[in-house]
Amino acid sequence: MLKEKMQRIRTLPILTYHAIEDGDGPLSVSPRRFAEHLEAISSSGYATTALERSVNRLYRWGNHSVNREIAITFDDGYMSVLTEAMPLLERFGFKATLFVISDLVGCRLEGRELLGWRDISVLSKAGVEIGSHTATHAMLTQLDLAGIYREVSDSKRRIEDHLGKAVRYFAYPRGLATARVRRVVVECGYAGACGTVAGTNTNRSDQYFLRRRELYDHDDFQGAIAKLRGKGDRLHNWVSPAWVRRMRLSEKLEGGCPQLVRAVRKLK
Ligand SMILES: [Zn+2]
Repeated sequence: MLKEKMQRIRTLPILTYHAIEDGDGPLSVSPRRFAEHLEAISSSGYATTALERSVNRLYRWGNHSVNREIAITFDDGYMSVLTEAMPLLERFGFKATLFVISDLVGCRLEGRELLGWRDISVLSKAGVEIGSHTATHAMLTQLDLAGIYREVSDSKRRIEDHLGKAVRYFAYPRGLATARVRRVVVECGYAGACGTVAGTNTNRSDQYFLRRRELYDHDDFQGAIAKLRGKGDRLHNWVSPAWVRRMRLSEKLEGGCPQLVRAVRKLK
């Protein structure tokens, strides 16, 4: 029992959020609910960390080095990360990582306002780690090699030019990747990448397909605590048919990334 508990803690969970706002749909988590989640993280004894720091240590020093650490990530770069999430993160003294879409900065996505370069710079200066979520939010699995390079490499360069800081982490739109997409991310100099497969990470996990757990508005305090412990990971992966189909296809077409292929086999 104790061993099981230790194993559970000595991994690196990464949480996914999109917009922090009162609204319907899976991308919205209300500020009140988000504060409850932060309370759940805090009362579970976790310290929050930037991906750069934690993933580095995880692969360099092993699982014990991320004892009781958790990373909070936001995909897409919605304005509400600055206006709603940031004050709450600061209240708890928490760190976070934001994945922005370089060509859509200052535009709209899914009917929501996206952060401008000045906003992203404010967040970066406040300690938020900025990563890339492609140039146009294209489905990378549907592009040819030149298209994948453009999305992965151009976005990195553009964000770096604006912030004057290295961009080290990447998040695949909708979590979709093939072995080819993954290879481009490695070649473009990223230190790691996040998918949307649910789970936590150890030093044996694929650094370029890090697992995450998404918290929704319907997850209350107790629900968040349960999710932090891994409840719902299997169900989440089981009900992700688009991802499963895509990975089965890539397995046939390209031999697949061994860890992804193994994960898919478990789901079959
Ligand atoms: Zn996205």
